[in-house]
Amino acid sequence: MISFSNVSKRYASGQQALANLSFDVNAGEMVFLTGHSGAGKSTLMKLVMLMERASTGQVVIAGRNLNRMRTGQIPYHRRQVGVVFQNHQLLFDRTVFENVALPLYIAGHQSREVGRRVRAALDKVGLLEKEKHNPITLSGGEQQRVGIARAVVNKPPLLLADEPTGNLDPKLSEEIMTLFRQFNAFGVTVLIASHDLALVRQLGHRVLTLAGGELVHDGLLPEDM
Ligand code: ADP
Ligand code: ADP
Repeated sequence: MISFSNVSKRYASGQQALANLSFDVNAGEMVFLTGHSGAGKSTLMKLVMLMERASTGQVVIAGRNLNRMRTGQIPYHRRQVGVVFQNHQLLFDRTVFENVALPLYIAGHQSREVGRRVRAALDKVGLLEKEKHNPITLSGGEQQRVGIARAVVNKPPLLLADEPTGNLDPKLSEEIMTLFRQFNAFGVTVLIASHDLALVRQLGHRVLTLAGGELVHDGLLPEDM
């Protein structure tokens, strides 16, 4: 699902963010991405979403070589990748329903189909009864679940999350991770960047660790990391 081969990324500023990175994530895997601030986690995610392009090396997502992807194909590619952000990026002048529906309207779905899919997504995150609320009236954990519903409403085969529990307490963080595991159990490939090593270790999934833009660990987290 994700294949990086000798990928380096140097920003226009000259800053090297990723150095000769190679790894594969298979369809159906759930993988965590860790590393200190500045290690290159966000840059890696941006390459997968094609918000940035690799300077050298090859990125292949769902069998498509992003190096060769033309601008006109990018919207199609983005629909294959659901993205969850730490700060939700919800629109507070729209209802929960409208926030989740946005990607479907952009993709050009008919309103009956939109209603059906939005309710299916809200049901999966346990927020069906809040569809008419403004997200500003919801708790932090609920807002993050709206963000997750919006990320999965297109049924993407790949789900990315950048610090999705960064603002949440341990109990809510666990609930959010449980949701990701449920989508993973449906067959969705999941990649989550997280600082929360205690939580990551407890969940027991494969972990990729970056340091200075290089891959320094790939596997379960040992007790002393
Ligand atoms: P992380 O997500 O692990 O904190 P980032 O991928 O954000 O790491 O950053 C990796 C390195 O690239 C850092 O040194 C950061 O300052 C630099 N960087 C990130 N984005 C940009 C950018 N748009 N322009 C220049 N340098 C950047
Ligand atoms: P449909 O009839 O369109 O398949 P479902 O009732 O199966 O709709 O549920 C659709 C919801 O399933 C999506 O809105 C989303 O919440 C969730 N979902 C996301 N990705 C997947 C997936 N790969 N497989 C199954 N369900 C998914």
